[in-house]
Amino acid sequence: METIIDMYGKLGVTPAVYQFGEEVLASLRPRFDAIDQNAEYNQAKVIAAMQKNRVDAACFAATTGYGYGDVGRDKLERVYADCFHTEAALVRPQITCGTHALAIALGANLLPGDELLSPVGRPYDTLEEVIGIRESTCSLKEYGVSYAQVDLLPDGTFDYEGIRKAITPRTKLCTIQRSKGYATRPTFSVTQIGELIAFIKSIRSDIICMVDNCYGEFVETIEPSDLGADMIVGSLIKNPGGGLAPIGGYICGTKACVDRCAYRLSAPGLGQEVGANLGLMTSLYQGFFLAPTVTAGALKGAIFAANIYERLGFKVVPNSTESRHDIIQAVELGSEAAMIAFCGGIQAAAPVDSYVTPLPWDMPGYENQVIMAAGAFISGSSIELSADGPIRPPYAVYFQGGLTWQHAKLGILLSLQRLVDAGIVKL
Ligand SMILES: *Cc1c(COP(=O)(O)O)cnc(C)c1O
Repeated sequence: METIIDMYGKLGVTPAVYQFGEEVLASLRPRFDAIDQNAEYNQAKVIAAMQKNRVDAACFAATTGYGYGDVGRDKLERVYADCFHTEAALVRPQITCGTHALAIALGANLLPGDELLSPVGRPYDTLEEVIGIRESTCSLKEYGVSYAQVDLLPDGTFDYEGIRKAITPRTKLCTIQRSKGYATRPTFSVTQIGELIAFIKSIRSDIICMVDNCYGEFVETIEPSDLGADMIVGSLIKNPGGGLAPIGGYICGTKACVDRCAYRLSAPGLGQEVGANLGLMTSLYQGFFLAPTVTAGALKGAIFAANIYERLGFKVVPNSTESRHDIIQAVELGSEAAMIAFCGGIQAAAPVDSYVTPLPWDMPGYENQVIMAAGAFISGSSIELSADGPIRPPYAVYFQGGLTWQHAKLGILLSLQRLVDAGIVKL
């Protein structure tokens, strides 16, 4: 029988790179055990929500057209609401991506004359056009919604005094991004976000607190909705779709906020009553069912990558020992060439499109050129193993996903292999 080293050899990983990986891995077992325990808790949470709502085969039937009385769709929304402990949820294939979900949540709950505040610095790149930080047709700014921002303090914590000063009678909604996105600040823990929300509510209890929850779902045992968030928002081709959802986004929150989102998504007067499921319900339910363990695999990959690259002298965010609040691992590679080599390795590990070479390109919604490695079953899915980053200093690659830990491991080993082959890294 061929050994595991032979198998890795066939996939392009040399014994030296494999051995280096094994040495790093030896120290990570206790952390992997803790991740498995977290997944066990979240698996129970998801199953309990499905049982409570009596999910059955009728939920998986396809509907078309208006989709009136769509039991599967309505129950899925109850499952999300119960799992994340919110009054209501909007979970739809008609929400095309995370940016769309966030744009709905913001557009539905902000009116002309209102002000949007980000108390956590610059938001995710695509949100800049939604808000109008970068001029854009149909931005919130065009509709008369102004924007204020309070940057994080140099140590990455909240500038509470600055936030207090920035809150005015016009402040209607605070947008809090959990994950670092394309920044190199730390990701916030749910507890930290809860403290921030409590602070904001202590100043004015009627300010809506929305959390961009992308990449954070199921990383901890609680979500920001457990600690006061009025809305949590995310993409189904990230954590909660479990790799199976082919499209979609969710907004979970108070009934008042979610109702408005439903009217914004469809039309005033229609709301949540319309929207056919198009036969996607099995994937959305089954994906949500798998999401806790898929997220756990991705988390192990992120920790493995941090430990590999930190040992080789690269700055990694989070570092090799920090606790985790999302599945993203940033590795500051220092050059465009290293980004191309790293992404080439991730791509070569993929089950799909492994033969293509990722190169930097201009992408809609992003200011700099972006390089993306992804060999995914679902196009653009970043719960599947993927790496991307804007071509700008510090030339950080953002690594995330992996439907299985074993695949994430292969991707990381091949990224390292490519850096070794290019002479950028010496083991
Ligand atoms: C991915 C992401 C988004 C946008 O989601 P898309 O599905 O790519 O539109 C927004 N915010 C954060 C933090 C993200 O990671």
